[in-house]
Amino acid sequence: MASHIVGYPRMGPKRELKFALESFWDGKSSAEDLEKVATDLRASIWKQMSEAGIKYIPSNTFSYYDQVLDTTAMLGAVPERYSWAGGEIGLSTYFSMARGNATVPAMEMTKWFDTNYHFIVPELGPTIKFTHASHKAVSEYKEAKALGIDTVPVLIGPVSYLLLSKPAKGVDKSFSLLSLLSSILPIYKEVVAELKAAGASWIQFDEPTLVKDLDAHELAAFTSAYAELESAFSGLNVLIETYFADIPAENYKTLTSLSGVTAYGFDLVRGAKTLDLVRSSFPSGKYLFAGVVDGRNIWADDLAASLSTLESLEAVVGKDKLVVSTSCSLMHTAVDLVNETKLDDEIKSWLAFAAQKVVEVNALAKALVGQKDEAYFAANAAAQASRRSSPRVTNEEVQKAAAALRGSDHRRATNVSARLDAQQKKLNLPVLPTTTIGSFPQTMDLRRVRREYKAKKISEEEYTNAIKEEISKVVKIQEELDIDVLVHGEPERNDMVEYFGEQLSGFAFTANGWVQSYGSRCVKPPIIYGDVSRPNPMTVYWSKTAQSMTSRPMKGMLTGPVTILNWSFVRNDQPRFETCYQIALAIKKEVEDLEAGGIQVIQIDEAALREGLPLRKSEHAFYLDWAVHSFRITNCGVQDTTQIHTHMCYSNFNDIIHSIIDMDADVITIENSRSDEKLLSVFREGVKYGAGIGPGVYDIHSPRIPSTEEIADRINKMLAVLDTNILWVNPDCGLKTRKYTEVKPALTNMVSATKLIRTQL
Ligand code: GLN
Ligand code: ZN
Repeated sequence: MASHIVGYPRMGPKRELKFALESFWDGKSSAEDLEKVATDLRASIWKQMSEAGIKYIPSNTFSYYDQVLDTTAMLGAVPERYSWAGGEIGLSTYFSMARGNATVPAMEMTKWFDTNYHFIVPELGPTIKFTHASHKAVSEYKEAKALGIDTVPVLIGPVSYLLLSKPAKGVDKSFSLLSLLSSILPIYKEVVAELKAAGASWIQFDEPTLVKDLDAHELAAFTSAYAELESAFSGLNVLIETYFADIPAENYKTLTSLSGVTAYGFDLVRGAKTLDLVRSSFPSGKYLFAGVVDGRNIWADDLAASLSTLESLEAVVGKDKLVVSTSCSLMHTAVDLVNETKLDDEIKSWLAFAAQKVVEVNALAKALVGQKDEAYFAANAAAQASRRSSPRVTNEEVQKAAAALRGSDHRRATNVSARLDAQQKKLNLPVLPTTTIGSFPQTMDLRRVRREYKAKKISEEEYTNAIKEEISKVVKIQEELDIDVLVHGEPERNDMVEYFGEQLSGFAFTANGWVQSYGSRCVKPPIIYGDVSRPNPMTVYWSKTAQSMTSRPMKGMLTGPVTILNWSFVRNDQPRFETCYQIALAIKKEVEDLEAGGIQVIQIDEAALREGLPLRKSEHAFYLDWAVHSFRITNCGVQDTTQIHTHMCYSNFNDIIHSIIDMDADVITIENSRSDEKLLSVFREGVKYGAGIGPGVYDIHSPRIPSTEEIADRINKMLAVLDTNILWVNPDCGLKTRKYTEVKPALTNMVSATKLIRTQL
């Protein structure tokens, strides 16, 4: 019976690792305390998989911070600035790289493919000396073995490791990272030899970059790397695991021709096309690890459908060569449904978190060898049927309205420059209008008020008064600072997606459905299980209240449909765009209610629009088309005089600038300050931009207070490429993570810099 799990969440069912890490970092517990929590977590995970009957159980998928950083440690690729003295890398060097220390900042972090997980980007250069400086893979293998569990050690493959790296500071940007292959392979060989000596009979190399668009040179690196490793592989079974998308035909050809490799793992959930490749040619005698159970979502598997896929694959690869697996590591889903005591039973029956997915994988493997657990399959089929027919999932009116949107355009009738003129007549803003992105500092008091209200410890009235008081404080501060377009500060929101999800129908919330985002940080995405609608206005009361406190324009503040979609667990029984259109219709109603309530400026945040971009370039256009369309749907019905803003958090927009223009917002505020003005280079190269634009003038992620001079300098740089009459002045993002002692002086300087420049125009 062949079952396999690609990887497992590390945090623990109740985020035990998070709390242990943070307590260690705060100096409240010792390294031994931390190690004890980690050892216990690993043991319980291995035992759980072993008791479930899984044959190929992964090890070395645990991490104190990040698996890519673990690989950097394994290779001894510590950047010089951490003054590592050599030898085995300890916690202090490791965490310095991850988080920085008193004197040296952390290494850069970036998104792990199209997930919400972030890894630490290796910094490499031509002079780096690699040494085998972390024996974690071997010690975890031995640790499991001592518990009587033979595991499959997992390593990030050498080619993906290099392709995920960047040239270190001072190294020429054109430096070929792949030229380091011959320097890292000797370390990989040592690790493989030690694993073999310890008794390992299988090793898994994760090479997820194989699902990306690769050029011939990159593909050749796979061929030469594994040819070089082949001698080390003798006597071992080697699995190359890919995930997150279907694999391009060229890459498939390269992968299935690698020397020394005995097994290939594919994501058959996001990679439905890979199935065709496997069916049309699969090398004889090799193993297929078929990732049918979704590692990226929280839905129970449709076991009958998976079983029939697997049965058809048996005919292609042979009964003894088919292994049932997950589509990717389960670290991208929630941990254990057992801890969800508040979810209602019907919705719960539709779900499977990591612990439940392990059981599903095993049940499928057993069914393939004639040991089908009929009762388990029947219960699964009943849950699938209930999900298909439940009135809680389907809202015909919403379905119809969303279907009617497709194919049509939804644009405001008047063009943006005429709209801006009409708005200016009403708003009468000074040149270089100043504003902020929405949230103001979230104090402990504020969090307590929300918590107590949720727990029904304070009355509705007490809560409303407390929030009103906070809004009035924020309004007053902004008036004193002389900011032109105000915000209410978002004191009633704990999270920009959860706040809306809680008020929309079709959403459910978990108590412990945490997914690691980076390091000890986790997010708890809402679950979209049904057709989305908006029973009642969500923000109108607060926005109107805030507007009533000032004669300056008050921005209504909404989260856009694409961001709500991308930061949720999304239903898998209809295409993503369908769900996005439904959310767009709900937000549209809110926009129109705000307008009717006298709000003249409405900001619709699309912080996560870019991160939803598919991995494969061939799919970008389709995604951008429906994502941008969804945004336009929310505001195509407002009057010319209503000003629509949007906000985006990352500045890496150069490749999608035309889609951003196509969103047709009146004003966009966008991150800029951390990116060497990459954004401005687009305009320098001549892209025409007619709408209002506010590239952030200072970084809110840092406690540092920017001086008036440096902000003025930034504004001047922007004026060199953008028309004076479209430029806005604002910070990079919301202020909720900052303190008032940072926010007030920073905004004071921002306004002074703006006023200074106004006099020079
Ligand atoms: N309006 C939100 C805020 O100011 C935007 C946050 C974000 O872009 N991530 O907090
Ligand atoms: Zn932002």
